[in-house]
Amino acid sequence: AAAAPHTILGHPDALFVLFFTEMWERFSYYGMRALLVLFLTATTLNGGWGWDIKDAGKLYAWYTGLVYLTPIFGGYLADKVLGLRRAIVIGGLMIAAGHVSMFMETKPTFYLGLSLVVLGTGLFKPNISAIVGQLYGKDNEGGRDSGYTLFYMGVNSGAFFGILLCGYIGEKISWSYGFGLAAVFMILGALQFYFGQGIFGKIGLSLSQAKAEHVPVAEEPPANVVKDRLKAIFTFSFFTIFFWFAFEQAGGSMTIFARDFTDRSLTGSTGTTFKIVNTLITVIPLLILTWLLIKLFFGTAKRYLLSNLLLVSCIAGIWYLTVWMLMREFVNQDSSVPASWFGILNSLFLVVLAPMFSRLWGKYWNPSGPIKFGLGLVMLGLGFACLSYGAAGIPNGAKTAQVSMIWLTLAYLLHTMGELCLSPVGLSYISKLAPPRLLGLMFGVWFLNTFIGNFLAGMTGSYIEQIAHTYSMSTFFLIFTVIPIGAGLVMMLLNKWMHRKMHGIQ
Ligand code: GLN
Repeated sequence: AAAAPHTILGHPDALFVLFFTEMWERFSYYGMRALLVLFLTATTLNGGWGWDIKDAGKLYAWYTGLVYLTPIFGGYLADKVLGLRRAIVIGGLMIAAGHVSMFMETKPTFYLGLSLVVLGTGLFKPNISAIVGQLYGKDNEGGRDSGYTLFYMGVNSGAFFGILLCGYIGEKISWSYGFGLAAVFMILGALQFYFGQGIFGKIGLSLSQAKAEHVPVAEEPPANVVKDRLKAIFTFSFFTIFFWFAFEQAGGSMTIFARDFTDRSLTGSTGTTFKIVNTLITVIPLLILTWLLIKLFFGTAKRYLLSNLLLVSCIAGIWYLTVWMLMREFVNQDSSVPASWFGILNSLFLVVLAPMFSRLWGKYWNPSGPIKFGLGLVMLGLGFACLSYGAAGIPNGAKTAQVSMIWLTLAYLLHTMGELCLSPVGLSYISKLAPPRLLGLMFGVWFLNTFIGNFLAGMTGSYIEQIAHTYSMSTFFLIFTVIPIGAGLVMMLLNKWMHRKMHGIQ
């Protein structure tokens, strides 16, 4: 497919339609997810269902896992019948319907809602990820990697605002409104994609639509090349399982670490540093997003944005609300950092760092995929090394302790840098390596890694806790230092082999 003629920040302007659509979808996904366990475990007096934490955890694990299993079906359906664009619209509307259904808060509508989100995400997620790559022709391969990195920034802007806002509104105002907010933004996201579709020209049509429009069929490479590239896809996928396994494991253990072991008092210079860092990481993503919006508004996509004025005002509204809330929560009143603050550090760091990584790959240094993947795994391991070192001071058997929160912050930073080397890069490689007629399916395969990784993390979670108890938290973190670093080094050693299997794809 030819690249779209208009560009913003050096990328086809259609990328930004995808950026915002995915941003709203992730807003609803992460926002609702942030509420789920809180809602289920809240007492009935507080409007919850009074579940015990184990059961709530199980439902959460299944829900967040299944969302990454259904893309394999959604991707296939798009390849064979729907086409990428229609799959995105239908998936988006199904997700929105799911959130509306949860908003009603009765038992049957709640489960119906969860199922709709799981199925809708299966249609939406692999196919919106696939269409990004279609914007970049063979003449712009460097652009593709950096384009996916920007897209991934959209993912995390959504996650950041979603966790913050749905969480806040759900907990402080009402659970229903929290779920409802997820619905509103998903509907807006799906609508803006629907109405903005013209910008894609002949990209993302179904087989029959493409035939009717006389779009030339994409050329399939020779069978042996396809086979080798599939091997490369499966190798990338295999190592990605290690990544999400450790990454997901980090989610749980870091929350415990943050809650019980870090010194979160904000006195003296720690307090000042914290306030400065906090203000910076709040303001920088906002500035970046404002910049993008201004560019869009005065750029060639003006037409498209003008027709979405409502959306623009919502974005502005959300920003002010967010800044106001953050200032109130973290700077003026509280004297200690809430544990949930660490949970959103990942998406914050990601939004801040993504443009830099995007430029790095686009302009300065673009090592091959296996090297980037290897680096990603190594950085993930180094993040755990920080935790292991930080936790080394905790006396054996202690239930709480005071460890500087710098270790946790560093770990999140390294984990996020690792994620940026691997996750968006992986999307980009799938789009280059996949045989054109199985594009959606291959993205389904890619998300299957997350399903397997999360599932393994869930299965081994309880053993891990035992290790932490019998030995120490530090030993536990050490295991997760060694596993990803080992996997990362093997991946780098496979560089030459992978290079051959990819047949000219850089
Ligand atoms: N944060 C990413 C997203 O939500 C994670 C995707 C994945 O493959 N695990 O898109």
